[in-house]
Amino acid sequence: MKLNNLNLKFISALVLAGTLFYAPNLEAQNKKKKKNKNKTEAVAPAPKKNKEKTIADLVKSSHKIDGLFPVYQDSITGSLQMLISEDQIGKEYIYFSQIADGVMEAGRSNRGSYRGSKVFKIERYFNKIEFITQNTSFYFDPENPLSKSKEANISQGNMASLKVEAHDKEKGLYLIKADDLFLKETFSQIKPASRPGASPTSFKLGGLNKDKSKIKSIKNYPENTNLEVEYVYSAPSVLAGGSSAVSDSRNVSIKVFHSLIEMPNNDYQILLDDPRVGFFTTEVEDQTSTSSTPFRDLVHRWHLVKKNPELAVSEPVEPITWWIENSTPLEWRETIKQGVLQWNEAFEKAGFKNAMAVKIQPDDADWDAGDIRYNVLRWTSSPEPPFGGYGPSFVNPKTGQILGADIMLEFAHFTNRVFYDKLFNLASESEAFDYSNLNETDYKYCSYGHLMHEDLMFANAVAEATGASELEMERIKKESMLALIMHEVGHTLGLNHNMKASYLYSPEQLATPEFIAGKCLTGSVMDYATLNITKDRSKQGQYDDVAVGPYDIWAIQFGYTPFNSESEKVNLLKQSTKPELIFGNDADDMRAPGKAIDPRVMINDQSNDPITYSIDRIELSNSLMETVKQRFTKEGESYQALRRAYYLLSNQKAGATNVISRQIGGVYVDRAMAGQEGAKQPYTPVSLEDQTRAMKALSKYAFAPDAFDAPNDLYNYLAMQRRGYNFFKGPEDPKIHEQVLGYQKSVLSHLLHPNTLQRITDSELYGNKYVLSKFMTDLNNAIFKADIYGNVNSFRQNLQLEYTNTLIGMLTGKQNSRFTNNTKSMALYNLKAIKNMAAPSGNIASKAHKQHLRTLIDNAIKEIK
Ligand SMILES: [Zn+2]
Repeated sequence: MKLNNLNLKFISALVLAGTLFYAPNLEAQNKKKKKNKNKTEAVAPAPKKNKEKTIADLVKSSHKIDGLFPVYQDSITGSLQMLISEDQIGKEYIYFSQIADGVMEAGRSNRGSYRGSKVFKIERYFNKIEFITQNTSFYFDPENPLSKSKEANISQGNMASLKVEAHDKEKGLYLIKADDLFLKETFSQIKPASRPGASPTSFKLGGLNKDKSKIKSIKNYPENTNLEVEYVYSAPSVLAGGSSAVSDSRNVSIKVFHSLIEMPNNDYQILLDDPRVGFFTTEVEDQTSTSSTPFRDLVHRWHLVKKNPELAVSEPVEPITWWIENSTPLEWRETIKQGVLQWNEAFEKAGFKNAMAVKIQPDDADWDAGDIRYNVLRWTSSPEPPFGGYGPSFVNPKTGQILGADIMLEFAHFTNRVFYDKLFNLASESEAFDYSNLNETDYKYCSYGHLMHEDLMFANAVAEATGASELEMERIKKESMLALIMHEVGHTLGLNHNMKASYLYSPEQLATPEFIAGKCLTGSVMDYATLNITKDRSKQGQYDDVAVGPYDIWAIQFGYTPFNSESEKVNLLKQSTKPELIFGNDADDMRAPGKAIDPRVMINDQSNDPITYSIDRIELSNSLMETVKQRFTKEGESYQALRRAYYLLSNQKAGATNVISRQIGGVYVDRAMAGQEGAKQPYTPVSLEDQTRAMKALSKYAFAPDAFDAPNDLYNYLAMQRRGYNFFKGPEDPKIHEQVLGYQKSVLSHLLHPNTLQRITDSELYGNKYVLSKFMTDLNNAIFKADIYGNVNSFRQNLQLEYTNTLIGMLTGKQNSRFTNNTKSMALYNLKAIKNMAAPSGNIASKAHKQHLRTLIDNAIKEIK
């Protein structure tokens, strides 16, 4: 047996203590060991008191990296020591971290992922230096005596308490060991906590291995100290290996950039948030205010100062400078630059000329994109792309001033790589997402690129199928790229999403190329609008935004204009009732079933008549489906491209039916303040006409017996190209019924969501004319009337059973208490109607199906108490 160090130490300790090896049992042996160990310590001679070591003694084998916090790295062991000066004690600093590289399996630990910033203070406690997180969530008016109790019931966080190794009284310097600060998760938690209820077979990181973890680089500047650390998480054995991006699932590395930043000392003016405009904020509550809205939420924005304050439009002292990373494909650099500079139009209206500047990172640059002093447009091609684009920024939590930003772009955006799991689960994905536990960095997460990628592939398929020229294909790519860049840059300027902005132009206007030329197709590039693809191909104009929208300009005016008076700002905000300035963000959007209420605040929609626009999209997909086999089968190639086209077309249809479904029980929300010109009441239910129109469309395009028909001979060809053993885990045949039912269930999960049903009844009190009994009867008819008296095809059998079980669930299911009594009454009423309709008729399969329905209903009725 090879003895390692630990064993040797252990044995020598035993030998020293004279312990015998023939102890009768292990427990007794262990007890003795402990006892003897103490004895050893007790009898050991007291160490001689050494002369106190000086800083110079302790750092003599180290290399010094000077900066805000001077760091010494031992040239033999690599371990770190750090200097703290007396004037840094009691002072506040900003801590910020981002992922340098990671794996998608470990939460959002992908390259460039920002992890938020916080304020910490350095304190001294006897011979210790402490790093203490400060609370920045509350404001106390310093004039108010209550401010004396501002620390009451607020917990600060002591992240680290480190012994002073040496003290230079004369120079006022303290030396501490810094390995514990950076090689442990001291400043921030990196390994995600395992979720209760998570599958025991899901991927997990092992424990943090301090021996394998190491400092990758130290970059020290007068205003910030930056370290890149590689954390290694090890486990002796693992159940789940993760994706192929994980080379060794027992040893997984996550690299993190840590930055300790000096608190900016400038004349930055805080700007408080207004609910009519969508900026990212740091929420602060005024504890000394008696207002019913004691909010002092800090808008996130850059510190932009006019070079010539006397001019209406001036260049800034320092522009917001963007660097195109040297990894960016050459052919995209010009479009990317254009996307950034488009925002200058908005800044001009806020009084700044050339507020944004773009430079290209030289190939031999001595800095990398992780350097917080540079805002970088980065480019990656990840194995599991977490997004198409992502535009995070970080701020001074005390003021909201943006201190740095990056934009991550994924090459996958421009490929035809289909992530089938994502395509197939379009509907269930948002449903399964846990909205209850989001933090600030989650709100900044942007899935625009992902959604756009699907649209982009669809647009390509449409163009390809309708014989578009190369030029047209290039145009689709370029416009979508420009739109994506403008969107992500918008985030870095502080803007959050505006999912309501697509409610601007009519479908006719969007199908008038001259009208939309050169415009943003919605009120804002911050929406997730679907690409503009006209059903009538002769009317195809712009596919996507090529300029920032009217809302974007107005929002930048609010965020960046150096207002001369409060009334100037108030007057600007009063314009919020203009149709082109409507705003609603992710919190209001209806992508998840039952989550929100205003159907205008939806993703993947377009135009101020989303029902018509969606129907057009469905009909376009249906007509392409007719010829998809001929168009996408290429001689000498496998059927992978055909399979992709089939899923893209089906998915577009399904997405469009989801958009339509949000009208049912929808309530328009108006964010205007009372008395504002053009303001409407906050809540106005969707008109009876629109709700009925939506129901009819769903009946035809989501539920009808032929809603998801595809030419039968298509199914024989939906085969993936074989690769190694890639069907080993499950059969390869396309699960067509499951796919179609998935689409239908996704619509039903909104229509029959307890929140939707409850709102339909409630909103009858304030103007909803599409009453619950009418809606539920219409839905029942849509699902049964067309075929229940004759043959029921296999798609409809699936749908009818699924729906019937949902109604039964409302009465007797585990979740039945979530449904209102009048919903339950209507569910029972409809079940009885189904039973009456489902008399035995049609072919054997149809008879069996109807008998199944009746049995389910009979049994359920018996259970009802
Ligand atoms: Zn976004």
